[in-house]
Amino acid sequence: MADRYFAESPITGSSAELTGPEAHHLAHVMRAKVGTEVTLFDGTGQEFAAQVQRVGRSTIELTITSAVAVDRELNLEVTIGVALPKGDRQRWLIEKLTELGTHTVVPLITHRTVAQPYDSALAKLRRGVIEASKQCGRNRLLQIAEPLIWETFMQQTPGSSVRLLAHPSVESAVAENGPSSWINRAASASQIACAIGPEGGLTDEEVQLASAAGWQTVNLGQRILRVETAAVAMMAAIALPATSTSLD
Ligand code: SAH
Repeated sequence: MADRYFAESPITGSSAELTGPEAHHLAHVMRAKVGTEVTLFDGTGQEFAAQVQRVGRSTIELTITSAVAVDRELNLEVTIGVALPKGDRQRWLIEKLTELGTHTVVPLITHRTVAQPYDSALAKLRRGVIEASKQCGRNRLLQIAEPLIWETFMQQTPGSSVRLLAHPSVESAVAENGPSSWINRAASASQIACAIGPEGGLTDEEVQLASAAGWQTVNLGQRILRVETAAVAMMAAIALPATSTSLD
């Protein structure tokens, strides 16, 4: 895949401008010159072939030579509500969820949430989405939604016919909550919502609230997974069957 750069403003005409870290990367790391050819994307689903016209101090102007819609999205919309882990593990989580085709991540505030989703942290995560999309070829950006408290997320996932709560409880090991059941159900849905609890686990009240709101508890195996492993495993289980239909 050619070197890809993200244009903050939607590209509509025959020119585009890169600013901020994208301009820095292209000018100073890749040492672009007038005439250098790159691929641009703006998050709207298209890919653009472009040629550098002018290298400024903090902006790069380019001419668009062609535009083509390239769809690398899943054919189902997955929203993952997750109580974020800290630091590097939080960044890793967003990178992997971007690669796997997640539509939206909602940072959740739970009773035992460890990393408070402050604006500065969310801005860094949004930058992480761009970096991962450059690498994996996604032309639409994973959305990082505004944080929600657990109760609101449980009650506010409109349109999602399948709502799955990852919970490592003994009862959830029964067959109907085992992988073959929920993965099959997920594969036939067009919108799915998933919820992952915090490092310290969900409280009984939080789990009860989910059941009362109609969420299905699902089991991800006999071992206790870290938050980011649970989210990525769940997303991979949903994404792979959805992907194979278009690649087989
Ligand atoms: N001590 C906590 C562990 C939390 S692990 C507890 O006993 O609940 C963090 C989150 O990852 C959990 O809230 C759950 O959403 C998910 N998770 C981890 N391992 C899991 C498993 N084996 N099955 C389902 N969900 C799991």
